[in-house]
Amino acid sequence: MNSSIEVNVPHVIHNIQSVRKLSGDALFMAIVKSNAYGLGMVEFSLYVQSSVDRFGVNSVDEAIQLLQYGITKPVHILAPYFDERVREGMIPTIDRISDLYLYDSLCEKKGYHGLFHLKVNTGMNRFGLEVEQIDEFMKALQECSHITMEGVFSHFGSTYGKHKRFTQKQWEKFMFCKEIIEMNYSQPLIFHIANSAACIDFPESRLDMVRIGNAMYGFQSSKAQIGLLPTFTVKASVKSVRFVSKGDYVGYGCTFKAKRNMWVAVISFGGYDGFGLSRKRKSFLLEAYHHFFPKPKLFIQNQAIKPLGNIGMTYILADVSPLNVKPGNEVIVKVDSILSLKETVKRNYVGNY
Ligand SMILES: *Cc1c(COP(=O)(O)O)cnc(C)c1O
Repeated sequence: MNSSIEVNVPHVIHNIQSVRKLSGDALFMAIVKSNAYGLGMVEFSLYVQSSVDRFGVNSVDEAIQLLQYGITKPVHILAPYFDERVREGMIPTIDRISDLYLYDSLCEKKGYHGLFHLKVNTGMNRFGLEVEQIDEFMKALQECSHITMEGVFSHFGSTYGKHKRFTQKQWEKFMFCKEIIEMNYSQPLIFHIANSAACIDFPESRLDMVRIGNAMYGFQSSKAQIGLLPTFTVKASVKSVRFVSKGDYVGYGCTFKAKRNMWVAVISFGGYDGFGLSRKRKSFLLEAYHHFFPKPKLFIQNQAIKPLGNIGMTYILADVSPLNVKPGNEVIVKVDSILSLKETVKRNYVGNY
């Protein structure tokens, strides 16, 4: 066995259902951008397809992959960038008038009626049409006969739990946009703004659709606990075990010298796979603390084991002296984030489904 991320599909489905219980009739968009937060976009999407209404990705490239591998639910491209490869089944985001005309002409050329969602800027200042441009946008839209605006959305720049006032401001701005758009538009629209944290902590924001990433993957980003389950375990294995005498060095850099006789295991996981990388920046004090009191990251038979010497690209050496460890034994690797885990780590989907 080489290293793998074992994805627990029933736990993922449980998390989806827990969110759905809250959001009621609102559509559920599964956010699978960034390789499904590291779990493997295509396979993950195929497993959850029947439990969700739509998918959200960042780019046309990701959308192409999903459609190519059999995703039939609508795929939203959340960033406001698309090109001539856009096709039926994809719902691009548009936040400027020039793209409206571009999309209209692409759909005319390709011979299908395209849907899109308008993104409005409510305070994050990354993407989105400004409120003042809405009138002009709606006028331009009337000239486009090959596309329909199916929805309008925005994105929270922080969580309700952390920056309540900022979130509230964004929310009010979005409600204002909703009002002026509905005055100009007779067809029903899907309005959406809630990510995981907003959906759980800020019920009003659920509207017609929720866009869920973190909660589906079992990451707690909200204040309220809704019984989310962990969805993955990172596993590696012991390749070999060696006896090392007191006074010998172990591994790269002569940074570890054995103070006693010991058993050292070679574990098939390393820096290249993503070991030791962290997604969150920690404070200097916390970094220093963890330098002297490292958090255990490797476990065999439920016992924490210590890496020795510098971490190699593909292997970790670890002290397994007190345990009875054999080649082939399973090692559980605790990682800060699976986002940093490379393709070298196989994704395995398990459970009864
Ligand atoms: C990533 C993303 C989400 C999902 O956010 P979570 O906090 O992971 O639920 C929702 N909407 C947009 C536009 C995103 O980019």
